[in-house]
Amino acid sequence: MTKDVFNDAEISVPCPQCSHETVKTIGWLKTQNQLTCLCGATIMVDAKEALSEIRQAEKELADLGSMFE
Ligand SMILES: [Zn+2]
Repeated sequence: MTKDVFNDAEISVPCPQCSHETVKTIGWLKTQNQLTCLCGATIMVDAKEALSEIRQAEKELADLGSMFE
């Protein structure tokens, strides 16, 4: 069973053109690979890199949680 405890967590994706930070949830980023900034720029989201960090954090959290069960 997969724990997606970070799905509701929000991260901000900075725009390379105007520096505006668009806030998206992890769950959203898992299903998208790009977003459109307020300035109209299309930002490619490196989901694989972000997700690998998220997965690692989820795993550590799961390990931590199992210690208290
Ligand atoms: Zn922008």
